[in-house]
Amino acid sequence: MEFEPVIGLEVHAQLKTDTKIFCACSTTFGAPPNTHTCPVCLGMPGVLPVLNKKVVDYTLRMALATGCKIAQTSRFARKNYFYPDLPKGYQISQYELPIAEHGVIEIDSDGTLQPIGILRIHMEEDAGKLTHDPVRPVSMVDFNRTGVPLIEIVSEPDLRSPAAAGVYLRRLRAIVRYLEICDGNMEEGSFRCDANVSVRPRGSEVLGTRAEIKNLNSFKNVEKALEYEIRRQVDICRAGEKVVQETRLWDPDSGKTVGMRGKEEAHDYRYFPDPDLLPLVIDEKWIAAVRAGMPELPEARKKRFVESYALPAYDAGVLTADRDLADYFERCLDEFDNAKLVSNWVMGPLLGMLNAGGLEINAAPISARRLAELLKLLASDRISAKIAKTVFDEMARTGEPAGRIVARKGLGQISDSSALEAVVADVLAAYPEESAAYRSGKTKLLGFFVGQVMRETRGQANPKLVNEILKKQLDGA
Ligand SMILES: [Zn+2]
Repeated sequence: MEFEPVIGLEVHAQLKTDTKIFCACSTTFGAPPNTHTCPVCLGMPGVLPVLNKKVVDYTLRMALATGCKIAQTSRFARKNYFYPDLPKGYQISQYELPIAEHGVIEIDSDGTLQPIGILRIHMEEDAGKLTHDPVRPVSMVDFNRTGVPLIEIVSEPDLRSPAAAGVYLRRLRAIVRYLEICDGNMEEGSFRCDANVSVRPRGSEVLGTRAEIKNLNSFKNVEKALEYEIRRQVDICRAGEKVVQETRLWDPDSGKTVGMRGKEEAHDYRYFPDPDLLPLVIDEKWIAAVRAGMPELPEARKKRFVESYALPAYDAGVLTADRDLADYFERCLDEFDNAKLVSNWVMGPLLGMLNAGGLEINAAPISARRLAELLKLLASDRISAKIAKTVFDEMARTGEPAGRIVARKGLGQISDSSALEAVVADVLAAYPEESAAYRSGKTKLLGFFVGQVMRETRGQANPKLVNEILKKQLDGA
């Protein structure tokens, strides 16, 4: 029997506001423990939370970007549970009446566009952070993160493969980064994900029993954990046994998911509306103001790249997948107006170098302006494509401008006909059999001769001129 997975993701995105959701404490990451706290976020008796308007603005941006229906009235509830990182004994979160529901985003995971439903988006506060020292042994708590604003974005169970889940998650991250509401940093935990997954016989409409997987802190881990969990559940079904509903933890070291707690141990959070916070009422005027300030989104930017720069859809898709990469590309174009050439170099050597070094575009060792300078030398035939790649690597290593490297290493292109004629004559003399074969009709050998001339000139010959001279000497003799 064939099985298909059914996957839904719950994503927590930390909002980039200056202050926390219900108090004026700073949200800056990396401060010494417990320095960004006050009676409100420490949950002292008698304090009152005050909702940060910017949190609502940012959430509305996300709701609009994902086509959600925005609730005129939503409200905050108390989610009650005990844990040492939660000083109040409850977390303030939206529950029954979230701010936004029923949206959709389109993903392209196998060449076709596929709509993925957004069940709901709601606002909530983050908890503190525990650090366990196994040596002393003690556990320490840092309340700096307590009350930092989060949005939770819950998808419908519309995803059908780990790869599609990865594409959806990347898409979501691109959107929050375009919207400038979250930095999308998975390592620092400002963008994190839990996955719900079940399997069912292919063709069945009934959902299988699901497991929830926690602790997925990178795109790679999301895909690997889902692959493992799907295999595990299919094996259970094939053996004629039943998958049990539970929360499981992904262990990246062993490459396995491990049972954490079952249905019986599931928390009963005893949600109830927070009596300290008024229902949140959002009118059309507020929504219109947020809509007016919306930045360009990935889909729109991709369309613009195709239309104004005449780029292939594929190039436009790669370049706009990340806002910073798209900005880099456009900064290059400000200096050098050849979109396709810039695109080739950004998608090829530049992304290749960043991927190899595990770097983000903002840490690229070659600035957009410097890359444009290199491409100008290439486009004006002062250096060949092969030399340009050598100069590119040298620029990445030393940070020197292209022009200086070309001058220092004498890498300028040889466009002197008489010099090249001599090299061509030498090459043809060195390969008499190939020359004869060319003349008797094997004209494909031209490429071979071009390669030899390039080798002789260490890649510095002007390729167009080499072709001309070769043809002249071969055909003319
Ligand atoms: Zn505070």
